[in-house]
Amino acid sequence: MSESVLPVSAQGVAALLNEIGQRMELGGESPFKSRTYFSAAENLLAHSVPLAQVVAQGKLKSISGVGEGIAEKIIKLHKTGTHPTLEFLREQFPAGVLDLMKIPGLGPKKAAALYQSLKIASLADLEAACLAEKLAAEKGFGAKLQAKILESLAFQKRNEGLVKINVGHTRAFASSRALRGRHPSIKDVIPAGDVRRGCEVCGPVDLVVVMDDETADAVLESSAEFRVTISPSKSLGAALLFATGTDGHVSTLRALAHAKGIELTPESMRRGTDELPCSTEAEIYAALGLHFIEPELREGRGEIERAKLSACPRLIEDKDLRGILHCHTVFSDGANTLDEMAEATRKLGFEYFGVCDHSQSAAYAGGMRIEKVRAQHALADELNRGYHGKRFRVFKGVESDILEDGALDYPAEQLDAFDFIVASVHSRFQLDRAAQTARIINAVSNPHTTILGHATGRLLLQREPYDVDVEAVLQACGEHGVAVEINADPHRLDLDWRWHQRALELGCMLAINPDAHDTAGLLNQKWGVINARKGGVEAKHVLNCMDLAGIEKHFEKRKQAARG
Ligand SMILES: [Zn+2]
Ligand SMILES: [Zn+2]
Repeated sequence: MSESVLPVSAQGVAALLNEIGQRMELGGESPFKSRTYFSAAENLLAHSVPLAQVVAQGKLKSISGVGEGIAEKIIKLHKTGTHPTLEFLREQFPAGVLDLMKIPGLGPKKAAALYQSLKIASLADLEAACLAEKLAAEKGFGAKLQAKILESLAFQKRNEGLVKINVGHTRAFASSRALRGRHPSIKDVIPAGDVRRGCEVCGPVDLVVVMDDETADAVLESSAEFRVTISPSKSLGAALLFATGTDGHVSTLRALAHAKGIELTPESMRRGTDELPCSTEAEIYAALGLHFIEPELREGRGEIERAKLSACPRLIEDKDLRGILHCHTVFSDGANTLDEMAEATRKLGFEYFGVCDHSQSAAYAGGMRIEKVRAQHALADELNRGYHGKRFRVFKGVESDILEDGALDYPAEQLDAFDFIVASVHSRFQLDRAAQTARIINAVSNPHTTILGHATGRLLLQREPYDVDVEAVLQACGEHGVAVEINADPHRLDLDWRWHQRALELGCMLAINPDAHDTAGLLNQKWGVINARKGGVEAKHVLNCMDLAGIEKHFEKRKQAARG
C-alpha cells in the first residue's frame, strides 16, 4: 500500500486492530496477547480527541491500553491502511475463516482446525461440509456440534441484514441528518419503515425526503443500506403511509380505499379526477373512515378493522414513566454505585429507583450472599434518609435467579426483607418445554415474586428464546398478580410485543425495566416504551407508571399477602 492513501479513521484503525487480535487467536497466540488489541481498539474508539491530532502530537500512549508496540501499529495503520504484522497474519488464513470463529460452538481453535483439515474457508463451505456430514466424522466435532452449527447458520441467514433497534435508530437519524444537508431544496428527511414502526430489529433504513423542487433527485439514490422516497409536501401523508406500514397494512388500506372509489398511491389520493388532500396521514385515514392509527401499530394485524370501530388508545409515552425498577450496581455486575445510580435516576426526573442486583446463585455475575444484601439494605436506608423530603425513594429489590425447580434464591425470611423481587431465569435454558414452563410457573406462584424478569430469555439476533409455554406463564402471572417485565435492554425487549395484548387480557400488569448495568443504561427505558407502544400498551397497564405513593402501596400489599 502506498503512502498516498487517505489517513484511516479511528473507526477503521480499530477494525484493523480487532482483525489483528482475531487473527492472532486463529494462529493460536495466547488470548492475553489478542486481548490487548481488542481493548486498544475499544479505547481508541472511546477517545474524544480526533486520531489525526493524537498522532500528530505524539500522544497515542495517553490512550489507555496503548503501549509502545501498539502505538507504532496504530500510526502505520492510520497512515497506510495496513501493517507488516497484519499482512503476515493475513497470509496464514483467508478472511472467511474469521466468520467461522463467530459461530456459536466454534472458537478460534476449531475454526483454524476446520480450515487446516477440511479447507473450510467461508460460511458457505461450512454449511456444505455440515450437509455432507463431514463434521460429524471429524475428530473434536461430532454429529451434535454439526447439528448445532447448522442451526446457527440458519439463524444467521434469517437475521441477515437486520440490526437491533438502537443501531437502526442511530443509522436512520444519522442518514437523515446527512441527507438534509445534501441539497438546499430538501425541506426535511423523515425516517420511516421499521424504525418508525418501532420494530425491535430493523432492516435497511427507509427515508422520506421532502422537497417541492424535483431537480435534485439525482443526488438521492437509494442503496442497499437505505431506501429513499422523495415526496412533495402536498402528498407527504401518502408517501409516509407507504414508506411506514407493512405490506399487509398498506394493501388493506388500498383495498378499503378502492371499495370507496378512491385510488391511493404513494404520490396521491384521488376520486376519479378529483385530487383529495393528503399532505398528512390523518387526512388519509379520515377519508377512508378510519380513526388515526399510530405508526407503531401499522403491522397488518387487525389494526385497520379496529380503527373502523374506535379510536386508537393513547399509547404510553416516555413522560408517563414515574420510576425505574430492575437495575444493577457494583453490588453485583453493575459498573456504578447504588448512590450514583439512584442520583442519576432522580436527576432524570423519576420518583423512585428499584435496585435489583443478582442473587446468590448467580456466581458468574457476582450474585449477593446474605451479608452483602444486608450491607446494601443499610446503604439504601442511609440514602433514603438523605432523600427525606425530596419525594424520591430507593426500593430494595433483587433479581432473584429462578432455580431449576422454580424456587427463589433465598430462604423465605430473607425474601421478606426486600421491598420487591424480580424473578428471572439465567441458567438451564435447555430444559424441555414442560419442565421450563413448570419451573417458571412455580416461581411466579411464589407470593414473594413481584415481577417476572425477561420472560423468554431471548437475545435479539443472538439467541432464540428458551422453549416455554408463554400463554401458560402469562396466565399464571395474571392469577398471582405478578407483573410481567418488558425488559428495555435493546438486546432483549422481552416480553415480545406480540404478547403484550394477551398479557393484558389475562390480567397482567407490565413493568418497563431498563436492566441497566450503569447510569447510561437508564436510557434503555426509551426502547422499552417504543416496544410497549408497539404492543398497544397504555400508561395504566404499566407498574412503573404508578407514582411513588402508588407503588409503595402496591409493594406493601404484595408483602402483606406473602406474609399471609
Ligand atoms: Zn437478568
Ligand atoms: Zn438484570
